[in-house]
Amino acid sequence: MNMNNFEFEDVPSAVMLSGGLTSAVLLSFLREKELKSSLKAFFVIFNPKQVLKEQKCVEQLAKYYNVHLKILDVSSLYDGMTVPSSLDFQKFNDYYMPFLNSVMISVVAAHVYYIGYKNIIFGTTSSASFHYPDCSLEFLKAQSKAIFYGSVSNLKLLTPFLNSSKLEIMRMAKESNMHIPVELTWSCFVSYKKPCGKCFGCLERKLSLEILGSGE
Ligand SMILES: [Zn+2]
Repeated sequence: MNMNNFEFEDVPSAVMLSGGLTSAVLLSFLREKELKSSLKAFFVIFNPKQVLKEQKCVEQLAKYYNVHLKILDVSSLYDGMTVPSSLDFQKFNDYYMPFLNSVMISVVAAHVYYIGYKNIIFGTTSSASFHYPDCSLEFLKAQSKAIFYGSVSNLKLLTPFLNSSKLEIMRMAKESNMHIPVELTWSCFVSYKKPCGKCFGCLERKLSLEILGSGE
């Protein structure tokens, strides 16, 4: 895979961040494009506990890559929906937050429509599309259309990583000699203090760091 084949129009764009390794690769990738137009980062809170770690990581990444950050909060929508404490690959659907990605994309779309931005860049990968219905190719195609028509043809949803797995993205970052500040990212789905080491996020992070050749 070569991400340089993915051409961005140089127009004011919003980039959605989660605080994970993919967020860092996406920001590196966008910075390498040396876009002249403004780029604004967005973080959507769906669980108040995220403030402890994910939000902190997003703030650090935004600072590192010199991107203005806007934080939006939809956590009241998910009040009472808890993530199970024991997670494994088989039970992925146990912690599907209904329409979460769709909600996050929609609130960002609503915000950037008014400030006249043209693109929303969402760094979801094929790994997520396999697990979450609102990250699937079909869903995102439909959402992309909805955003385009809902914004009177002004706003596009771009998903440059959708055809690659998370590990393929890490390989691309390594091959492109990107410096990824892994210490500013967070991957655990279960804990917001110390990584649990067992959840899908932690296991995938371990493999990702091996590819990137960086330990922690
Ligand atoms: Zn974990």
